[in-house]
Amino acid sequence: MFDQLRNQYSLRCPTHDTTAWVSVSAFRRIRRLRGATSPAVFRVEFDCAACGDVHETLVSHDRLDWEPLGTESTETFMNLVTGRRELLATELVERATDQMRRGHWPWTFWCHPESAMRPGFPSSLRFVTPEHDHGDERVGVLVRCFSCERHTVNIVTRDHLDVPWHNDDHIAYVAQVFDGDRIAPEERFRHQLWDGPARAEWLDAG
Ligand SMILES: [Zn+2]
Ligand SMILES: [Zn+2]
Ligand SMILES: [Zn+2]
Repeated sequence: MFDQLRNQYSLRCPTHDTTAWVSVSAFRRIRRLRGATSPAVFRVEFDCAACGDVHETLVSHDRLDWEPLGTESTETFMNLVTGRRELLATELVERATDQMRRGHWPWTFWCHPESAMRPGFPSSLRFVTPEHDHGDERVGVLVRCFSCERHTVNIVTRDHLDVPWHNDDHIAYVAQVFDGDRIAPEERFRHQLWDGPARAEWLDAG
């Protein structure tokens, strides 16, 4: 499950046989499992804060993309205004509706082939890795575009990935076509992220 108050999934650490709290920015590689369609299932590799290792686990599409929005959460919280315990989902549904009405998405990424910001989801990510050049604050991701399915390397803050509806007001991206055919996609990703010559910046004009 995903905890909306800490913005982390609870996944399994097999080393300690315990729960590991995992942010999207701690994902390292996400692959769709071939064959599984209803629901789709993703193979997620993540950096485990509990033991320091990298683990692999299977996460269903619903859990990966929709649980972070919390609209079906059964958690409750103490509303300090009304002084009563209330369902967190009620708040989160209101927030989601309000955000969508204003044309916002829980996650957005720059699509270089289309030269546009596009909605995305945790399942749209293929690789995630810390971006050393800016300390640990920023992470490089390879994103498959939600609308055209082509790939772009984006460099975003951890919050941009970890906190649904939080969107950076500027996003760096690699202004180069992602060609994963001739060399392995992971190698291509790392090359574009670290040696890529053409880094550009999108600024929120709004
Ligand atoms: Zn672990
Ligand atoms: Zn570095
Ligand atoms: Zn696109």
